[in-house]
Amino acid sequence: MAVNREKYTELNAMLKAKGVTLVAVSKTKPVEDILELYELGQRDFGENYVQEMVDKATVLPADIRWHFIGHLQRNKVKYIAPFVSLIHGVDSWRLLEEINSQAGKKGRVIDCLLQVHIASEETKFGLDAAELGEVMDNLAKPETAARVQNVRICGLMGMASFSSDTSLVRSEFHTLHSLADLYKERTVAAWSPGILSMGMSADFETAIEEGSTMVRIGSLLFGERKKPADS
Ligand SMILES: *Cc1c(COP(=O)(O)O)cnc(C)c1O
Repeated sequence: MAVNREKYTELNAMLKAKGVTLVAVSKTKPVEDILELYELGQRDFGENYVQEMVDKATVLPADIRWHFIGHLQRNKVKYIAPFVSLIHGVDSWRLLEEINSQAGKKGRVIDCLLQVHIASEETKFGLDAAELGEVMDNLAKPETAARVQNVRICGLMGMASFSSDTSLVRSEFHTLHSLADLYKERTVAAWSPGILSMGMSADFETAIEEGSTMVRIGSLLFGERKKPADS
């Protein structure tokens, strides 16, 4: 299925007017499709798989901002550390320390989002509210904060339940927004909130109504994927 250019133009204008950033999720799609949106001005692209993102980044224009939105294994951080723009799925302190370590080796500060588990489904990754609190506490304690000086945490990310029940989806996004509000005023070094990454093809309108500042949209722009996302 081809890239839906009309949909992109319409969506992009609507999101720009609302001040919401569009991450075009290009996982499993060929580089030609990415280039098609690139030529229309799109620069933020999201990928779920490390090897695929590395392969694409190697051949595509250097001013693309690559968002890693999948589940990131610690032993693979090193492959994306040189170029990744934003890592959405940070779901443990140990992963954050590994990102910090690889960022340091590359002389970079890597922007990250903490992924919070908001869906009622068990399968999705992410921190629960208590674990998020622990990460925030670590950021505030000098001895642990010293271990993450090469990361900047720019906010939270979450995925709602895969459900047609809009009120359920809305309440999950609402929960994420409330958590973001809870920590908004924290002034600790690595914490620089402002991004609330929530909303995909099926639920981005609800997400925006609930305060999303960044949506991750794939199938609406690139067509359905052959294999379902394993995230
Ligand atoms: C695949 C994926 C998306 C995009 O999903 P669509 O339904 O195709 O818009 C967004 N976020 C994450 C984390 C994903 O894995």
